[in-house]
Amino acid sequence: MLYSRFVSLFFCSCIILIATFAPSAPAFATAWNAETEEMLAQIRNNPVEVLESLDSNATERQTPEALATRYYLISQANGALALHEQALSAAETGLSLQLDTESSLYHYLRLAQAKALNGLGRSQAAVNQARASLQWARKNNDQRLLNYAISVNGYLSITLTQYSEAQAFFQEGYQRLETHLGMFSRADFASMLALVYLYIEEPEQAEKFYREAETWYREHDVKLELANTLFGLGKTTLATGSSEKGIALLEESARIALSIRDLQGAAFSYEAVASELIDLGRPDEAMSYLDEALVLFTQGANPFMQIKVLIEEAHIALQRAQPEIAQQFLDRASSLAVGDSFLPQRIAIADSRARAYASQGNHQSAYAVLLQNRQNRATLQKEINSRRILELQAQFDLEQQRAKNALLEEQNLRQQNQLINENRIQQFTIAVIALLFVVCILLTWLYFNSKRQKHRLEQLANFDGLTGLMTRRKTMEDAEQQYQLAHRHGNHLTAAVIDLDFFKQINDKFGHQVGDDVLREFGDCAQKHFRKTDVLGRIGGEEFLFLFPHTDTEASIDMLKRFADKIRKLPSRLEIPSLSVTLSVGIVDAQHYRSLTQVIAEADEALYEAKRTGRDKIVAGKKANTETSS
Ligand code: GH3
Ligand code: MG
Ligand code: MG
Repeated sequence: MLYSRFVSLFFCSCIILIATFAPSAPAFATAWNAETEEMLAQIRNNPVEVLESLDSNATERQTPEALATRYYLISQANGALALHEQALSAAETGLSLQLDTESSLYHYLRLAQAKALNGLGRSQAAVNQARASLQWARKNNDQRLLNYAISVNGYLSITLTQYSEAQAFFQEGYQRLETHLGMFSRADFASMLALVYLYIEEPEQAEKFYREAETWYREHDVKLELANTLFGLGKTTLATGSSEKGIALLEESARIALSIRDLQGAAFSYEAVASELIDLGRPDEAMSYLDEALVLFTQGANPFMQIKVLIEEAHIALQRAQPEIAQQFLDRASSLAVGDSFLPQRIAIADSRARAYASQGNHQSAYAVLLQNRQNRATLQKEINSRRILELQAQFDLEQQRAKNALLEEQNLRQQNQLINENRIQQFTIAVIALLFVVCILLTWLYFNSKRQKHRLEQLANFDGLTGLMTRRKTMEDAEQQYQLAHRHGNHLTAAVIDLDFFKQINDKFGHQVGDDVLREFGDCAQKHFRKTDVLGRIGGEEFLFLFPHTDTEASIDMLKRFADKIRKLPSRLEIPSLSVTLSVGIVDAQHYRSLTQVIAEADEALYEAKRTGRDKIVAGKKANTETSS
């Protein structure tokens, strides 16, 4: 029982130790609610449908968070349709709701804003906030947000022609996801990586990743993303020289895009097909694709692409020797290319216009236009240069900030680790001290318990259970000791052997129980009557050996007589008047004998004499030569 108690204590301590050092629960990515999650997935399949369903949603009595989530969805859906103006305004409306800047939602909107700005060619303005949100997602271990942040930052890097950076971002995303998490899948990052490879002109790599994405999107029926991937795959295939296959892929992309009313997506595909057809010297076919694309880009209010298409149409007209028609296309393009951000487009238009004038034979106008264009080019170059300086400055600032942040983060981490370690050591020390304390208590308890046990065993071995007098073995030991002492110092030592008279008769007449009672009372009486230093032992059934140190025979006889008187009164104490208890005693002075054995033998002899001569008397041994009767 003691062992089991100890074992359970030990296990308790172990459990405390284990609990102290168990790792804390891992952080989990925050998730959208089910409805939002579903809409986000649907955006990747059919964004127009999502926009329509959001339109019909009531907006009154919604919390700022619910409203902001709605604007985030609107921004995402528009972004998916390459409607970046609308995407930007939705994100900004969401941000105007004064969200907690330490919330995931806030960072989703900031990233949506950055993504829209990137789509509008204002990447430089978006890059810092996109990086900040990426860091926030990492710091807060928000895995879903992190996927989104990585993708937005990668796209920004592409637009800023920092392809290796873009590749690093997308590679991270690709490696993070075994299959998918929330709305992001590994296929998405495969498609993004493919885009980078397309830009850095490694079509084999691009194709490999596009194929991976294509397979996933077909399996999971994600239409919008499939259309985008087929567009990329089409362009990649054209880059490897397989025109027909490339065109077929672009046409499939356009078909899927149209099926989900992604007009911009379809327009991009048509424009790409037309470009290829122009290169192949098939202007007539190209023209019909361009017409289609122009209509769609116009619907989507995408002036950049409208201008591009119009210039291509002008070139076809020039090839067909129709300079007037070419001029008409260019006029339309010019009317769209108004404002500072259209300077490169205006230069391209002017170049084409000069060719048109030349083919009309109007060399003077052609010259004037080219002259004007030279000036425009110089302005553009200056602008590009200053923009580049600004970009470099921003890049430098960003790098510095990043280095600083990394340093701070590392310091924080180190401090945190130190704190954790100190805590652990402290907890461990407390646990060890507690354990030692428990062990100490246990050992102390064991020590006292065994001592008590030993004492109990000693009592059992040394004292008779019935009379409380010494057992025979203990009596002999103590008697020997007293005998030796008396001999060495020449002191008196009286030994008395006492036997109860006719005890068998008491048992027979009154029962064994009464016999026991008499013996018990005898012991009790003896302990009270004699001194503590006297040896009082039971050496047989109703036979006793008493030794009285420093006491001569006479004094001992007196003492014994008074004792015998007390014993004689036992029947009245036991309330059995017909009972009679008397003693026969043989005593000797131990001084006169050479061994204890001889002392006892002589005392026994005297006792026998007492018995023989009528009992109830004290008889002194021979050498003491004294006889008294009571
Ligand atoms: P005597 O006067 O010659 O000594 O006669 P006696 O009957 O006292 O002597 P005997 O030796 O014939 O009988 C002793 C009896 O004591 C026998 C035994 O049953 C009894 N006796 C011994 N030990 C105990 C005991 O612990 N309890 C009881 N009740 N009786 C005991
Ligand atoms: Mg006897
Ligand atoms: Mg007897």
